[in-house]
Amino acid sequence: MSIYENIQSVRKRIEGAAKRSGRHPDEIILVAVTKNQPVTAIKEVIESGIADLGENRSQELLPKHEAIGDAVNWHFIGHLQRNKVKYIIPFVYLVQSVDSIALAKEIDKRAGAINKVQNILLEVNVSGEKSKYGFSPDDLVKAVNEMGKLENISINGLMTMAPFIDNTELLRSYFAKMKELFDNLSRARQPNLKMRYLSMGMTNDFEIAIEQGSNMVRIGTAIFSP
Ligand SMILES: *Cc1c(COP(=O)(O)O)cnc(C)c1O
Repeated sequence: MSIYENIQSVRKRIEGAAKRSGRHPDEIILVAVTKNQPVTAIKEVIESGIADLGENRSQELLPKHEAIGDAVNWHFIGHLQRNKVKYIIPFVYLVQSVDSIALAKEIDKRAGAINKVQNILLEVNVSGEKSKYGFSPDDLVKAVNEMGKLENISINGLMTMAPFIDNTELLRSYFAKMKELFDNLSRARQPNLKMRYLSMGMTNDFEIAIEQGSNMVRIGTAIFSP
């Protein structure tokens, strides 16, 4: 299977899951996770019609951005160190992995310095795994409030990584919890809060995530494995 064929097959599966959840497939954004992939593979992804690319390390994102440019939306999806923020802010479309108030403040400061309002998602550690970054579901509303005065970020939604497990019902409950958090925040009023994206679903679980309300999936393995 080529990258192109893999993407067609992922799109078919997205379509099926969207229909099962009563939505139009166009409402689901497919972010191709290109970490560890060479520029040649990224070009194939773009030629297959993908407009959103996800990277999880700034050291990898910077040279790839140099090579590819701004014809795509760049998403940052990994744990972001505060001292790396200034390098990616000038061109990144969406920082999906904001996992602390300190990081949000640094993004706000660096975006302000270049007159940008940076779109971000807040990462939620919905399963409570020790190895995972993100806000705990209980702390989320308070964290959003504490970010209320930051004028150079726009909180566009939530992101999560579910555990790598086969238990479909447990996965479903984590995604349902995320949808509930997303809907609650969508009703809140705050100048820098514009809830648009619920980013959840990877190769292992994206159909379940969509069925539970995801509108942005981040897929690597299913696109790049032969
Ligand atoms: C690697 C990665 C993905 C993609 O995972 P696959 O299982 O390869 O589809 C999605 N999100 C994040 C944050 C990742 O690091």
